[in-house]
Amino acid sequence: MTGPFTLSPLPYDADALEPTISAKTVGFHYHKHHQAYVDTLNKLVEGTRYGGMKLEEIVRATAGNHVGKEKKIFDNAGQVWNHDFYWNSLSPTRIAIDGRLKQAVERDFGNAQKLIEQLAHAGTEQFGSGWAWLVSRHGKLGVEKTPNAVSPMSQGTNCLLAIDVWEHAYYLDYQNERPKYLEAVLANLINWNFAAENLDKENHIVRAAAE
Ligand code: MN
Repeated sequence: MTGPFTLSPLPYDADALEPTISAKTVGFHYHKHHQAYVDTLNKLVEGTRYGGMKLEEIVRATAGNHVGKEKKIFDNAGQVWNHDFYWNSLSPTRIAIDGRLKQAVERDFGNAQKLIEQLAHAGTEQFGSGWAWLVSRHGKLGVEKTPNAVSPMSQGTNCLLAIDVWEHAYYLDYQNERPKYLEAVLANLINWNFAAENLDKENHIVRAAAE
């Protein structure tokens, strides 16, 4: 089965996130779950107007549909985008918060530890499957949680980081203990450089709109 969408390469080896996330978890998560969203999306968009659209455009065009084929397209396109974003939100090497991101975190949360606590809280409090996010709106940072395939991007908000809290993201390593997964990921794996790049993207958009 081929189609317009392909599985984006993992930005690191499957065992690179050990011991926080095992190679087994990454293998199932990437090669089974993420791949299945790509394959299903390709089947669903065949012969529709969505076949020629970019992934982000499909997510935004189908957001808010709660029934029928458009809902299925939203769910699968959303999950492809969310997983691309999630893998890039993680890093096998420790990365510190610095520069403009650090300034923004201190301004909007007080300090990095408070931001991490809010992300852990959002991920723990998300009932059932979903996501925890760091976002920016006109440069101001915020933490959000979303259910299922929904993302702040699908609602037009700039995303900086995503943490998957579907059970498939942690069950093999942490069983039912989602807070332990969140604590370990937030302490060891967050790619703060990716967050900083995404903050800069919104800053460029805001500046361009003001000129
Ligand atoms: Mn997932």
